[in-house]
Order: sequence, then structure tokens, then C-alpha cells
Amino acid sequence: MAVSNRTIVSLGELLIDFVPQTNGLPLSQVEGFQRAAGGAPANVAAAVAKLGGKSRFIGKVGRDAFGEYLRGTLEAVGVEAALIETDEARTCLAFVSLRADGERDFLFYREPSADILLRAGEIREEWIRDAAVFHFGSVSLANEPCRTATLETARRAREHGALISFDPNVRLPLWPGEERAKREILEAMPLADVVKVSEEEAVFLSGKDVHAGARQLLEYGPRIIVVTMGAQGCRVVTRRADFHVPGIRVRAVDTTGAGDAFVGGMLYRLAALHLQAAEIEDRCSDGEFAKDVFRFANCVGALATTGRGAIPSLPAMAEVEKVLEQ
Ligand code: ADP
Repeated sequence: MAVSNRTIVSLGELLIDFVPQTNGLPLSQVEGFQRAAGGAPANVAAAVAKLGGKSRFIGKVGRDAFGEYLRGTLEAVGVEAALIETDEARTCLAFVSLRADGERDFLFYREPSADILLRAGEIREEWIRDAAVFHFGSVSLANEPCRTATLETARRAREHGALISFDPNVRLPLWPGEERAKREILEAMPLADVVKVSEEEAVFLSGKDVHAGARQLLEYGPRIIVVTMGAQGCRVVTRRADFHVPGIRVRAVDTTGAGDAFVGGMLYRLAALHLQAAEIEDRCSDGEFAKDVFRFANCVGALATTGRGAIPSLPAMAEVEKVLEQ
């Protein structure tokens, strides 16, 4: 498979997830936690790097032990860590428990955390000038000043000719209310060329069912809406095409970060193809293209579920190729 040397830049939150050593308890009863590097855009950056792609992550951490650990984690997988270190606040922490009923219990320490204090003026031109793709999410849209920093940097990257990717990744506890979350996430849509949503997010953001919802999201301006569907794979919706790409069958043990791995795989392939957003939209009607890009992304997402943790379970290119050949 063609190796891409075009830079994929992700921007957003980078944090420590403290996950229970044993799952199935509400957070109030968990005694032991294990640290893991987290933050969806950082996971995307790691996924691209693990595949062998050129990946840069822009974010802000505290000048503290956790910030140092996060930098080390990104660099260990080959991500260029464009990190701003601050004394103004500490690195963001999140305690997350998967309860017996399958719901997630979250507790964030970000009042504010360093990631929220990311400012537009801190983002160097050289970090975005060479971006073939620029990716962001919605956690960095929930508070100022990082909301403005995220939106402005996406605009700047767009001016440099980057393909813009957005994963709304709705985390309602981080917003003052559902309506505000919806409105402010939708405000970012016109900046994006490619948007990845889960089925629940398509429904939440549109107020319609998944099918009608995905089509409605196109009206905000993106050319491609990709709806991920867990083991079922994904659905790709453009103005002229609407198709399902079946998932890859694996034995899933932990689906944390599967969506981010999927996005990393999709962006890696899109960057390698050297296409403008309009050309990608056109090519979506072509079955071979769909197979190449979205089957690849499904495979990266699927393999990421076969191990524990978001970053440690990301596959290398050889593993993806082996599965795709079968
Ligand atoms: P998110 O993590 O954003 O909720 P999904 O759970 O839909 O996203 O997973 C993203 C992608 O990862 C899916 O589209 C699919 O390609 C792959 N994936 C996730 N779970 C599985 C699974 N159990 N088996 C195979 N592939 C999976």
C-alpha cells in the first residue's frame, strides 16, 4: 500500500484517563486506577503515526509530570508533539468507569485544565502550513479560549489548502446544556469537509433518524458524512452517494478509541490519495475508492478493539494489510 508522507495535523485535548483496574463499578466505588493517555484528537494522531503516516498533534498541557508523560507517549508512537506547556493550569485528568449497566461514569478535572487555555496566538504557522489534513473534535469547542483557537486554526489550515476533518464526539457532561452543545457543535460544521459521527450523534445533532440525520448534516457544508456503526462498519453519505461498508469481523475486547482509530485510518488513506474535498466527494460513488478508504478505516477501527486501551491497541500497517488480504 502506498505510504503517505503528507502531514496530518490534529488539534485538541490531550489528557490522562484514569481507568479502573477492574471494571463494572460506579466511580465512587473504584479503588485502583491505571493511567492511560487520552483525548480523541491525540488518539487520531497516534493512529496515523502507528500506520507509518506523518502525524503532528497540537495541544496544551501543564508543565507537570502528567504533561511530560503525555509528550513521551505521543513521541513513542512517532507523533510530532507540538505541545505548549503552561504554568497557568495543570494537565487535564479524567476518571472514567464502565459501570455494570454499560454506562460510562466520567469525572473530569478541568476547571480549567491546560488544554482549555489553548490560545489561537500560540499556534505557530509552521505547525499548520504543511497540513494535508487538519483534524479537530468538539471537546476543544466547549470552552474558551480553546474554542476560538480550534476554529481559527481550522480556518487557517483550510486557507493553506488542508482537507478539514471534524469528529463531533459529543461529550455532554462538558457542556452547560444540550441545546448549547448542539448549537455550538453545529457551528463548526461549515468549516469541515469530512465529518465522522456515531449513529447517536447523527440523531442528536439533527433531531432526525440516522438516515435523514446524516443527510441533514450535509446541509451545513461538509461534503462527506461518515456514520460509524461499531461492528457493522460504517455508512458514507454525500450529496450523490449513500452506501454501507461492512465491518471487519474481529474478537473485540475493548472498543475504547475504535472511532479515533477509524478516523486515523480514513485520514491516512485520504492524505495518501492527494485529492481535494470535491474530488473525494466525486470518488465516493466509485466502489473501488470506497473499498480502499473506508474498508481500510473499518479495519484500523476493528483491530483497535482487539486489545486494551486506546493507544496501545492501535495497529501497525503490516497488521492492517494482513487482515485486508484475507
Ligand atoms: P465510536 O468509538 O466513535 O463510538 P464505533 O464504535 O462505531 O465508533 O467504532 C468505530 C469503527 O471501529 C466502526 O465503524 C468499525 O469500523 C470499527 N469497530 C468498532 N467496534 C467494532 C467491532 N466490535 N468489530 C469490528 N469493528 C469495529
